[in-house]
Amino acid sequence: MNHDDLVTWSAKAAEWTRDYHKSLRDRPVRPKIAPGEFLAKIEAPVPEQPDPVDAIFDDFTQLVPDAMTHWQHPRFFAYFPGNAAPASMLAEQLANAMAAQAMLWQTAPAANEMEDLTIRWLRDGLGLPADFTGTIHDSATTATFSAVTTMRELALGHEGVTKGLANAPTLRIYASAQTHSSVDKAVRLSGIGQDNLVKVPTIPGHPTWSMDPNALDQLIRDDIAAGLKPAGVVLCVGGTSIGACDLIGECIAVAHAHGLTVHVDAAWAGSAMICEEFRPLWAGIEAADSIVFNPHKWLGAQFDCAVQFLRDPAPQIGAMGLRPDYLKTQGAEDIVNYNEWTLPLGRRFRALKLWFLLRAEGLTGLRTRIRNHVTWSHEAADAIAALKGFEITTPPILSLFSFRFENDAKTAELLDRVNRDGRIYLTQTNHNGSFVIRVQVGQFDCTRDDVMMIPTVLSELSHDL
Ligand SMILES: *Cc1c(COP(=O)(O)O)cnc(C)c1O
Repeated sequence: MNHDDLVTWSAKAAEWTRDYHKSLRDRPVRPKIAPGEFLAKIEAPVPEQPDPVDAIFDDFTQLVPDAMTHWQHPRFFAYFPGNAAPASMLAEQLANAMAAQAMLWQTAPAANEMEDLTIRWLRDGLGLPADFTGTIHDSATTATFSAVTTMRELALGHEGVTKGLANAPTLRIYASAQTHSSVDKAVRLSGIGQDNLVKVPTIPGHPTWSMDPNALDQLIRDDIAAGLKPAGVVLCVGGTSIGACDLIGECIAVAHAHGLTVHVDAAWAGSAMICEEFRPLWAGIEAADSIVFNPHKWLGAQFDCAVQFLRDPAPQIGAMGLRPDYLKTQGAEDIVNYNEWTLPLGRRFRALKLWFLLRAEGLTGLRTRIRNHVTWSHEAADAIAALKGFEITTPPILSLFSFRFENDAKTAELLDRVNRDGRIYLTQTNHNGSFVIRVQVGQFDCTRDDVMMIPTVLSELSHDL
């Protein structure tokens, strides 16, 4: 295959892309397929001779889509959305065409400078103060790992990276039980250890299940009295399970009074902050030291794209950055080289899809979608509450709510029926010890009718349960 063939096949791929997206409503959201079934269809010895591209392309169109869960399906209400606006898909194609490696400014100048611009666009779009800078990671997990590693180094006077942790004091990180497992992963892999992640209780009866700032303060004091060393606090805005939001301003005040830095995980909910009316959910955010949100979830910049805002990048560069001889830039040492801000050396040109997306949709277009999703989510929750045997277990926070049907066993059976039916896709979580079903509304092409299909399907599939 050469570059002339690529023109032909790119045109065919573009047509296929359009037809695929237009036919999604006719497909089940999740494939009706058993583990191993797809592999059996493609199993073959490693190709010794070249295959014609049309044979490969045909196999793709005939075998792969039917074996995929369709994240761009308008009735995908599971997990969180993974939106891919057409403008961001186009940008990814162009980034792929250059196939650059953006590890240093000089290896991809436009990519690095566009990263600077799009970070500032998003910072302003989310209403964050002008003294935040930031970078783009592959995932929120990487950003949170970077933030927690930075907390470790701040607590150890930047000696952990050289001396290791063998003779270091026992460090402690604080987060609520509603924070994502990426925080657990970060403390495990940064050497702090799962046992030193202190899960701070939530305020009883709090409407968004906030961590209790007074409990946070007391736990930090107890740890200091016990000879342990507090290193930092991770807060959440829009927790993955039920959308929990910590009282950001109050918790940051406690952390800062103890000299601890704060990382805020707003991986999903951060996108909604382009709408001013949702910003009370993270009131006080301007005092955070680090914030992560995923434009690859609700905002429409296709996977992968996680943005981390930093008040001061220096501590993170101190923790993550390395400059071996072969990466020195000969007289341009003060230019930003984003690989020093994060875990991998190699970096894709991710800013291009943000630049295309924000220009092609405008904040106005993106706000309209997010506002619709929130409105429709409330309507769907009301309709489900009115069905016999159903109970809303957590009301909508932005566009995420949960419900149950009679008891755990029946709720699980209903979820199984729903996902075998295929018209909609929902997933579960545990809330206060109960098996509950989550609903999030956020897919870019969904309409109100798609969303109102949720109560219709639930009513149909529950009546003989
Ligand atoms: C999705 C999510 C994550 C993990 O995001 P990745 O980018 O997949 O690592 C972390 N925290 C929250 C709150 C999330 O919703």
